[in-house]
Amino acid sequence: MTASSYDYDALFQQALDGLKADGSYRHFADLERRAGHFPRAFHHGLGREVTVWCSNDYLGMGQHPAVLAAMHESLDRSGAGAGGTRNISGTNHEHVALERELADLHGKEAALLFNSGYLSNWATLGTIAARIKGCVVLSDEANHASMIEGIRHSRAEKQVFRHNDPVDLEARLKALPLDAPKIVAFESVYSMDGDIAPIEAFCDLADKYGAMTYLDEVHAVGLYGHQGGGVAEQLGLAHRLTVIEGTLGKGFGVVGGYISGSAALCDFVRSFASGFIFSTALPPMVAAGALASIRYLRASQEERRLHKDRVAYLRARLDEAGIPHLVNPSHIVPVMVGEAVRCRGLSDELLARFGHYIQPINYPTVARGTERLRITPGPLHSRADIDDLVGALATLWKEQGMAAAAA
Ligand SMILES: *Cc1c(COP(=O)(O)O)cnc(C)c1O
Repeated sequence: MTASSYDYDALFQQALDGLKADGSYRHFADLERRAGHFPRAFHHGLGREVTVWCSNDYLGMGQHPAVLAAMHESLDRSGAGAGGTRNISGTNHEHVALERELADLHGKEAALLFNSGYLSNWATLGTIAARIKGCVVLSDEANHASMIEGIRHSRAEKQVFRHNDPVDLEARLKALPLDAPKIVAFESVYSMDGDIAPIEAFCDLADKYGAMTYLDEVHAVGLYGHQGGGVAEQLGLAHRLTVIEGTLGKGFGVVGGYISGSAALCDFVRSFASGFIFSTALPPMVAAGALASIRYLRASQEERRLHKDRVAYLRARLDEAGIPHLVNPSHIVPVMVGEAVRCRGLSDELLARFGHYIQPINYPTVARGTERLRITPGPLHSRADIDDLVGALATLWKEQGMAAAAA
């Protein structure tokens, strides 16, 4: 036997150098969030406090007193971890209560918890599409990596339809045998452009061609609908979707993922999905915190009202300052830069000179030429914070001679 002549680290480094050369290497900000002071955080790289503008804790529920109290109480009562997989001693009463609450939130018979939203998409699509013989998955071309990977893992036939396009979806559905089992998989709010799927049109087509519908509401739960049940709730369409999937880590401010659907479907995934079965359950305190967050947001309109106010205010101020941003019907405000090095440069300057942290969004997360600063203002950003941010952006726009948007 001869020893390998590979220099493995050199292989890794070569790949990393490629990312650095095209501007897609990811730099993490070393942050310490300060509960009670969101959206402020201490930036360890910079050694100072900054204002965070790119968090997916959209409503600040990660510091909400009701959530923290529930987590403290559960931690002290039940301890740190769940103690096992769901099947082997890990099912704590908090998990059961949370699954009931999630089913009720979406008007479904049942819900099933996962350790993340990523896992819920990957495991559910991966399992259903693999185990239903001859299943074809029709997947929106802008779908999240977790759905794409789940579909790939299933090895089922996949058809990618044009983003948010019912015409293309129908053409593909029509070309398939009417009796073939099918899943139409899509998101409600798309996180980078902030556009929203034509949910009703997709449901109509699914009915017409006998397909299941799988809706990722990750960027909508907690935020949309009278009880925070997402865009489907807001539009009165929740009952038409086979599966509504969500996260507990964004609008609800904690961590974890879930699906909701019929009792049979949830039991099927519970019984066959490896990514559900063979992993330690979420800590009970996490389930307790998520449960408190959901219950709070089902009853309170104040966070959603303030959220809309801040989004509208930011857009109006950007318009006044001539800073180009993508128009969309959601809460996501993408300020378009269009060039990777410049996008990172703007982000660095915003941080170093003005104390505003907005992570640059570059390829491959978005297409080249559409690099952007994705801003997610929330109820905890004051109007004065927004004034300050827009002032800083306007200064940088002028200094760098960047094109203003048409007023
Ligand atoms: C973030 C995200 C997920 C994954 O959810 P996590 O709980 O963060 O794992 C799934 N779908 C979409 C569209 C997302 O943006």
